Amino acid sequence: MTIAAPSRPLESLRIGPGISALGERFVERRDPTPLPEPYLIAFNPAVAALLGVDASEAERPEFLRLASGGARFDPVPSYATVYAGHQFGAYVTQLGDGRALGLGEVVAPSGERYEWQLKGAGSTAFSRFGDGRAVLRSTIREYLASEALHHLGIPTTRALAIAGSDYPVMRETVETAAVLSRLAPTHLRFGSFEYFHYRRLNPELKILADYTIENFFSQFIAHPESERYALFLREVVERTARLIAHWQAVGFAHGVLNTDNMSILGQTLDYGPYGFVETFDPGFICNHSDEMGRYAFGRQPAIGLWNCRALAQAFESLLDESSRQAALAAYEPEFERAYAAAMRAKLGLRDERDGDLALIEDLLALLERGRADYTRAFRALSRVGSVPGVGDEALAATFADPAGLAPWLLAYRERLAAEAHDDSARQAAMLGQNPKFVLRNHLAQGAIAAAQARDYSEIARLEGILRRPFDEDAGDERDAQPAPQGTTPIEVSCSS
Ligand code: AMP
Ligand code: MG
Repeated sequence: MTIAAPSRPLESLRIGPGISALGERFVERRDPTPLPEPYLIAFNPAVAALLGVDASEAERPEFLRLASGGARFDPVPSYATVYAGHQFGAYVTQLGDGRALGLGEVVAPSGERYEWQLKGAGSTAFSRFGDGRAVLRSTIREYLASEALHHLGIPTTRALAIAGSDYPVMRETVETAAVLSRLAPTHLRFGSFEYFHYRRLNPELKILADYTIENFFSQFIAHPESERYALFLREVVERTARLIAHWQAVGFAHGVLNTDNMSILGQTLDYGPYGFVETFDPGFICNHSDEMGRYAFGRQPAIGLWNCRALAQAFESLLDESSRQAALAAYEPEFERAYAAAMRAKLGLRDERDGDLALIEDLLALLERGRADYTRAFRALSRVGSVPGVGDEALAATFADPAGLAPWLLAYRERLAAEAHDDSARQAAMLGQNPKFVLRNHLAQGAIAAAQARDYSEIARLEGILRRPFDEDAGDERDAQPAPQGTTPIEVSCSS
């Protein structure tokens, strides 16, 4: 049993300046632009509890004011952080928080610290051509997906709340504005480091690296400086490899893996046109604007390494070439290890044996060729018995074309027989690894359509399901199914 931390009102939160303490070369101090006539659309009590904030605080006007950009934690300034980044392979010299503002760093009762960021709180010095706003649609997508990934055990920023308004915002059509409150120990990105490197601001780069190590990688402080940056870089590389291994195992495509969307903590950051793979296809491109498929699902592992190389390049003034290469060399083995471990768990294999990877690859090839639903296929596989025939039909039903499945199942059962693991224990373990519920695009779209008609109950209902993705009864059967036949696939793009 865990003992709930004593909950507290907003006013008693301990707030620090976070990265804004580094000064104006790192952040622009800027007040949020309040959303006109805001209302609360979603609130996540579990994330509030991380801060030690009681759920009843959501009902206070003070909370809504904070969450809608109408207030900040005086005297801590709110701020936009500068960064740059490689977008679709090309370096952009200045990006930065164009529509996000940090309200500061909340010190939680656990001692953990969380930067509270408002996404969509108005323009900043880094808004370029943008209006500083986020639309309701995109805040709901980020809110639901970040909670979905968290409960699947994948590192991610967390979503605390959405505030909405009738304030119109122009995208492809007129939509309404909303502000997402999200939390992470820090929202620093690979691009934060690239910004200082490419401007040859080496002292600032060192300040940023020292700040990051001191606050978020403190295990390396005791090491001599000559080792510290190498250990830090290697740790980021390994976390990134593990993050992407998790995504591949669960079938998550981020959609815009630019280096400015890569968290220095190895968390999933900046949800845009992401998608969960449904009909399995390594070529799955969730971002309608990604014509070349640079960020296709199956390319994510390679892109992760590409992005780590870009980060390593930004460490040029801190680390010599051979140390940078040594840190980068950790990526592939760490990815392979984490991916193999995740996939073995999905197949219910406890021991490591030669041939496991071939078994996994053969299954993925079958899923692709047979146009199987990725999530449903693994869920059904969890119920396959060691006795031939048990569960085969239900598994085959997740394929459009199950040709080739029978010989694979033969090999799989042979492999299972090599482990002394009884069916019920294996099946229970697999049902805890292969989710029944993921955030299918049409589900998110349903919550968005309802919210656009002022019904926010579907957001809360989905959140409740995604909180228990492995639980057979968390949602309705239809929540575990692909979009009904005849539904037009929804195209998602960078527009948000
Ligand atoms: P994203 O594609 O959301 O990761 O954003 C890329 C860059 O564009 C970041 O610097 C964002 O802050 C900025 N940006 C995106 N949308 C807007 C907007 N509506 N207003 C201002 N800046 C934006
Ligand atoms: Mg971004």
